[in-house]
Amino acid sequence: MIAAKGYAGFDAKSPLKHYDFERREVGDHDVLIDVLYCGICHSDIHTVRDEWGGAQYPLVPGHEIVGKVAKVGAKVKKFKVGDKAGVGCMVNSCGECEPCKSDLEQFCNKGSTFTYNSLEDGKVTQGGYSNKIVVTEKFVLKIPDNLELANVAPLLCAGITTYSPLKHWKIGKGDKVGVIGLGGLGHMAVKLAKSFGAHVIVFTTSPKKVEDAKRLGADEVVISKNQNEMQKQLKSIDFIIDTVSAPHDLKSYMELLKRDKTLCMVGVSPEPHEIASGAFIWGRKSLSGSLIGGLAETQEMLDYCGKHGITCDIEKITMDKVNESYERVLKSDVKYRFVIDMQASAL
Ligand code: NAP
Ligand code: ZN
Repeated sequence: MIAAKGYAGFDAKSPLKHYDFERREVGDHDVLIDVLYCGICHSDIHTVRDEWGGAQYPLVPGHEIVGKVAKVGAKVKKFKVGDKAGVGCMVNSCGECEPCKSDLEQFCNKGSTFTYNSLEDGKVTQGGYSNKIVVTEKFVLKIPDNLELANVAPLLCAGITTYSPLKHWKIGKGDKVGVIGLGGLGHMAVKLAKSFGAHVIVFTTSPKKVEDAKRLGADEVVISKNQNEMQKQLKSIDFIIDTVSAPHDLKSYMELLKRDKTLCMVGVSPEPHEIASGAFIWGRKSLSGSLIGGLAETQEMLDYCGKHGITCDIEKITMDKVNESYERVLKSDVKYRFVIDMQASAL
């Protein structure tokens, strides 16, 4: 076994703290990565605080992982020691079912193995708030050389989670796209939708984010609590991506869609939303959802970001600041993703 150290949650209420644990030995198809940076996704907070249920402690969160390859198994082809490498939200899947064969491993019929709080060979997986990780080669991504590594980390979740639905709904020039919530996912939705040629409208509860939203590429910014500003957008939007992490009024956003258009949920509120059927019936509208993206699409997204020089806006922290960073994420006070610098951290 390989000794690893990081930070874990030990129950739903206490702060994360130091944890020594073990990674498996490097198998024939495995890659050992020295983790250099790991982003803090709101899903880490939902999971470690058991807001979705099913938390298994000790729980090392983190699924926006970038680092350097330290060792490869005998049959590994894509990577060699010293290469940059990335790991996102999944570390395995059955590989045989229809979704897996369609490059949609996130929808594996047998259940994907997620990077943390999932079962793999009878052991609970542990995430990227740690100094080392061992992952089967198929689930390790190549990182474009021209991008700043720390700013790439959140692409592994926030990037692909917003890229995938924008691609699926074929967003491009001439489309008016709404982005609800300007956090980690939201700020990437703005950058990506803009890069696809869309007209982007940000809906935010935070007036202090207006200037940033414009700098990130938004054509318009609506303070969602302002009814007058909301009314001006009625029946005018082609696609809405909803990144909000808590319950909110969906009906007021469905009303902003044109006929036959879609609101796609990517935010995973722990409490259910309440919405009456009229919101869909009037205008034949759809409420949909999207979960991260498959491996091939994640690689496509990374390559696209490399080609277009797109990365995340981050605040770099050391591990000892992880608990206070969680509190700031909960207050919508992060520009726009915290990224843990593993080498600068005393683990
Ligand atoms: P985040 O950085 O905290 O951003 C969420 C944003 O939502 C906040 O910045 C805030 O934006 C807005 N918001 C928060 N609470 C709100 C409330 N009560 N009412 C209205 N707006 C509110 O979180 P994130 O990391 O981007 O993740 C967002 C959600 O997506 C989380 O639930 C996460 O678990 C989920 N997620 C899903 C997937 C997937 O595959 N579907 C992948 C990753 C994450 P403003 O200040 O601009 O209003
Ligand atoms: Zn995430």
